[in-house]
Amino acid sequence: MVSTPAEVAQLRQQALAQVAKAQEADEVEALRVRYLGRKGSLTQILRTLKDLDPAVRREVGRLANEAKEALEAAVADRLKALKLAARAREAARIDVTLPGRRPPLGRLHPLTRIMAEICDIFLRLGFEAVEGPEVELDWYNFEALNIPPDHPARDMQDTFYFTDKVLLRTHTSPMQIRVMEKRRPPVRIIAPGRVYRRDSDMTHSPMFHQVEGLLVDRRVTFADLKGVLTEFVHQLFGPEVSLRFRPSYFPFTEPSAEIDIACVICRGEGCRVCKITGWLEVLGAGMVHPAVFEAVGYDPEEYTGFAFGLGVERFAMLKYGIDDIRLFYDNDLRFLRQF
Ligand SMILES: [Zn+2]
Repeated sequence: MVSTPAEVAQLRQQALAQVAKAQEADEVEALRVRYLGRKGSLTQILRTLKDLDPAVRREVGRLANEAKEALEAAVADRLKALKLAARAREAARIDVTLPGRRPPLGRLHPLTRIMAEICDIFLRLGFEAVEGPEVELDWYNFEALNIPPDHPARDMQDTFYFTDKVLLRTHTSPMQIRVMEKRRPPVRIIAPGRVYRRDSDMTHSPMFHQVEGLLVDRRVTFADLKGVLTEFVHQLFGPEVSLRFRPSYFPFTEPSAEIDIACVICRGEGCRVCKITGWLEVLGAGMVHPAVFEAVGYDPEEYTGFAFGLGVERFAMLKYGIDDIRLFYDNDLRFLRQF
């Protein structure tokens, strides 16, 4: 128990010395509590003055009160000094003469870029972009598109099935059905999106992207189909690129065509990419099959229309001169930074 003036003086000296040495605000606060808090040593002295010998009570009380005031002032000063020092250290760390740091710029993935470019062309031609589910019903992916269960065309598309009736869509063509069953003509849509097939090598990926197109109205002819696709190819690859329409077969169009363009790598001279033919197959298309119209309740006597589909990766490979489809999905920055 502190009870002499000398002891109070010593306590004051000790407390002031500790506060002066404290390097952190927390430390100062702990010292304040130790001496001046509700159970602090100085507080205790002041509280127990009445128990002291009256001969020293007055002197001890005076010294303790002075010590308390001095310590309160020292704590406030020390906290202020520490705060200023911290601010000065912070300022010293920032060298305003250093050049600024440029944040790394991101880039669009080549597939995103080509997809946007393709869609923009059709949007300017008056088409509307629609999107739909990647997990699809057999009805939309096959049956309504004139591909019944035993149809050989199903073998061309190695399908990922969840159940007998639920699958990952193998093409974006189901969107033709989904739109037509909800709307009356005229219909002018493109359907960009991901599709899935059990296939993987240099030119095939189990997931890839297609853009489907559909136009239905009165008096739509094959000439309209040729006009739209020719304009599309010319806008994407340049007006000098020639097109070739070859008869082909798809269950949901009749007549059907495959569309080649003059090889954009060798300009038709013949190279590895076009397998020396000078031509590249880039689109499938045709006039909508009457059976498809019947599946959605359109009268095939009243309406005609055309549909087309293209592989986005194929276009990106041709446009950017890439020979391995897997590069699109490896996320190798050395590859992606070239775009
Ligand atoms: Zn070529």
